[in-house]
Amino acid sequence: MLIFAAMSAEEKVSLKNIASHCKEYGFIYQSSEIYDGLSAAYDYGPNGVLLKNNIKDYWWRAMVQMHDNIVGIDASIFMHPTTWKASGHVDVFNDPLIDNKDSKKRYRADVLIEDQIAKIQGKINKETVKAAKRFGESFDEDQFLTTNPRVLKYREQIKTIEDRMRSAMDSGNLEEVRQLIVDLEIADPVSGSRNWTDVRQFNLMFSTELGSVTEGASTIYLRPETAQGIFVNYLNVQKTSRMKPPFGIAQIGKAFRNEIIARQFIFRMREFEQMEMQFFVQPGSEMEWYEHWKEKRMNWHKGLGLGEDRYRFHDHLNLAHYANAACDIEFNFPMGFKELEGIHSRTDFDLSSHEEYSGKKLQYFDQQENLSYVPYVVETSIGLDRMFLAILSAAYTEEKLEDGSERSVLQIPPVLAPNKVSVLPLVNKDGLPEVAEKIVGELKFDFDLQYDVKDAIGRRYRRQDAIGTPYCVTIDHQTLEDETVTIRERDSMNQERIKIQSISNKLQEKVDLKHLLKSV
Ligand code: ATP
Repeated sequence: MLIFAAMSAEEKVSLKNIASHCKEYGFIYQSSEIYDGLSAAYDYGPNGVLLKNNIKDYWWRAMVQMHDNIVGIDASIFMHPTTWKASGHVDVFNDPLIDNKDSKKRYRADVLIEDQIAKIQGKINKETVKAAKRFGESFDEDQFLTTNPRVLKYREQIKTIEDRMRSAMDSGNLEEVRQLIVDLEIADPVSGSRNWTDVRQFNLMFSTELGSVTEGASTIYLRPETAQGIFVNYLNVQKTSRMKPPFGIAQIGKAFRNEIIARQFIFRMREFEQMEMQFFVQPGSEMEWYEHWKEKRMNWHKGLGLGEDRYRFHDHLNLAHYANAACDIEFNFPMGFKELEGIHSRTDFDLSSHEEYSGKKLQYFDQQENLSYVPYVVETSIGLDRMFLAILSAAYTEEKLEDGSERSVLQIPPVLAPNKVSVLPLVNKDGLPEVAEKIVGELKFDFDLQYDVKDAIGRRYRRQDAIGTPYCVTIDHQTLEDETVTIRERDSMNQERIKIQSISNKLQEKVDLKHLLKSV
């Protein structure tokens, strides 16, 4: 069947569509839903966990298996409390908060201001769409954006707000942040009230007690990033793996942040997973490695084929206290370009600080050069859940088919798809299920798959399209005669007849991670 029309760019998929699709098809559920849910916490269902594991696998193998100078660890979530003093998280891991006195709602002050900027940006977008309609084919968007007086006025407004906010945030001037909210006449999105409290700093770490109270419990934190588990183990790993800089340590694990504005589905969660790699280098060589990892990580993303124009670099102008260069890889999510991964040159800040607080030397002695130094670190840090959302944002498509019917299809890159194939006997009789079960018995050693006998074949295809299965194999009466099956491809819906023995090779060509790893 031909695809008559797919979603156009204007009909861009919304986060709401994605979230409800995720729930309906067993990818993601709200945490503790039967108790009305816990905000910003999510559970991954049967298809979600398969996709998540495949993303982890792609990242881990690209990092650890493909580099003989990168090794992995799995550090504990709880760490000695001094870790967080040394890393700076106790003192500066804060968000600026403001409360509305009437609605009693709490907001991140910087987010309220950013939302105001987004509103003005929305006006620019509206003007652009209107002008594009008016001028038709001759419309030159770049020229319009740089010359139209109304657009220029909006742009100037945005710049003024951004400059004021940046300088206030950088200097920690919370009164000025509040003043900006007042000057912009920002109202509480819920109540419309402009009755605001002062802006205060709020630490994002979750704390808990270690040991029972009678024994003299001490406060410990749920780690807000996985990186510190790598820093405190730097020397252990370097020695036991006999590594010398440049070398890296990779880790995948949970992190926790008490985000005030937890919204946008799995984009910002309170419990999430990070995939981080800290790369230890000789001081002075960090910029070279920073550029190297920027390029490598972008290639890793682009290799998935989600569309090159969905990514862009955003260089940080205002650097965190520990960094001498930093950028984000941004992805075009349904709500616009947002951070997907951070690449930071963290200098020797963390290791030196841990040396100071622990009193233990964390240096590397280079015998060849007879030189002792605290290595510099270049890190790559990506949120697994954000990567999941990026893939679904690009993959989710609604199509109108030639016969007037519609389908929802997840065009997930086949290597990452939760199930690689679905095996479907055309009817549940005449010996077809027995042949199908035999095929499943062979394929299941190499592929995650589904066996489905319920409903008409068309409906079964739709179900597989909706969970992103790249291939369906159908067993029919002809199979009994000549040992051939039809294999249907998800995106084109093309079907061909192939021998049962060649199914495995055919799948392998498309879904083997090896091909992707070779190309990035
Ligand atoms: P943001 O500016 O979006 O809060 P960040 O700059 O604080 O992110 P980092 O500390 O650099 O983020 O963390 C590295 C990565 O971890 C981010 O690029 C993102 O993919 C992921 N991440 C950070 N916070 C969250 C969160 N609350 N929920 C899901 N993923 C997150």
